[in-house]
Amino acid sequence: MFDLQNILRPNIKTLKPYSSARDEFQGEASVYLDANENAFGSPLEQQYNRYPDPLQFQVKKRLSEIKGVPPRNIFLGNGSDEAIDILFRSFCNPGTDNVILVPPTYGMYEVSANINDIEIKRVPLTAEYQLNLEGIAEAIDDRTKLIFVCSPNNPTGNSINREDIETLLANFKGLVVVDEAYINFSRQKSFIQELTEYANLVVLQTLSKAWGLAGLRIGMAFASEEIIEVMNRVKPPYNINEASQQLALQALQNIDQVNNWIKETLSERDKLVLQLKNFDFVLDIYPSDANFILVKTTDPRGIYNYLVSNGIIVRDRSKVELCEGAVRITIGTPAENQKLLETLQTYQ
Ligand SMILES: *Cc1c(COP(=O)(O)O)cnc(C)c1O
Repeated sequence: MFDLQNILRPNIKTLKPYSSARDEFQGEASVYLDANENAFGSPLEQQYNRYPDPLQFQVKKRLSEIKGVPPRNIFLGNGSDEAIDILFRSFCNPGTDNVILVPPTYGMYEVSANINDIEIKRVPLTAEYQLNLEGIAEAIDDRTKLIFVCSPNNPTGNSINREDIETLLANFKGLVVVDEAYINFSRQKSFIQELTEYANLVVLQTLSKAWGLAGLRIGMAFASEEIIEVMNRVKPPYNINEASQQLALQALQNIDQVNNWIKETLSERDKLVLQLKNFDFVLDIYPSDANFILVKTTDPRGIYNYLVSNGIIVRDRSKVELCEGAVRITIGTPAENQKLLETLQTYQ
């Protein structure tokens, strides 16, 4: 049986969190002299002289309506990258614990593991970019705390088989972190509705991709109340600034706009794939459930440099294991995609 108490770091189990002025008084008052703020105001039109809500209640309430998950099951981070780091700091003892990564995948898991001095056990995806469940089962030991599964996966673009993730959730005694940064573009269902089913599930999402708010730095973790409570204790008290909270709240009213962009991105993706297949330097394009495609080419470095010299930047992923020859291309606006195709016409 999964028991969160078994995987918590001892120092976190007993951690008394910082208690801010806003934690200690939460009602409405007319005079606030408790937080050493500048009572006169800010030298701006917008006023930011007060500390923001540490638990971001308004934003979570709106997210709760959109996602169908209660606010108490939502954690907000300064980007999902902060949520990833907080998972390491809450559950992994530096120098002794380990995590399982399934490359090729998102690079921050490895960086965060290294910063926190946590051993990485690598179990590469299969040739079809799916989980090697046997390999993962062999790699797990008593000190394995987290498994990161990115679906749709970055940089390959495909979704990971749902039943395989369910197998991990049902058998692993640590946390299974399902990173759904690209879920809005996917044909697959989110794992967010499975939170009541699996106590060891953490779903990561972000406002940085489909929502068009990468500059605001807002990432979400969805998990059991118990896990969210730990993450809230470990996070910096005011991790989401007031401007980001206000702008996110405004943006979250505009779902229709975002859904239209998603539709357009998917139709542009399909068009781009068809066109790219005509080039003889394109060997293969992997099926994508995301807003980017991984394109296997005869000459990744040459294509990358040629595009750079024409002011177009893609990502050369050819040095990444299982991605030989590959460049990753984000789907742009119709005009940008057209420019990419026209530029490639004159390659070589
Ligand atoms: C872009 C991306 C993120 C986003 O991180 P933020 O810190 O929320 O911007 C997370 N996971 C994956 C796999 C990504 O590609």
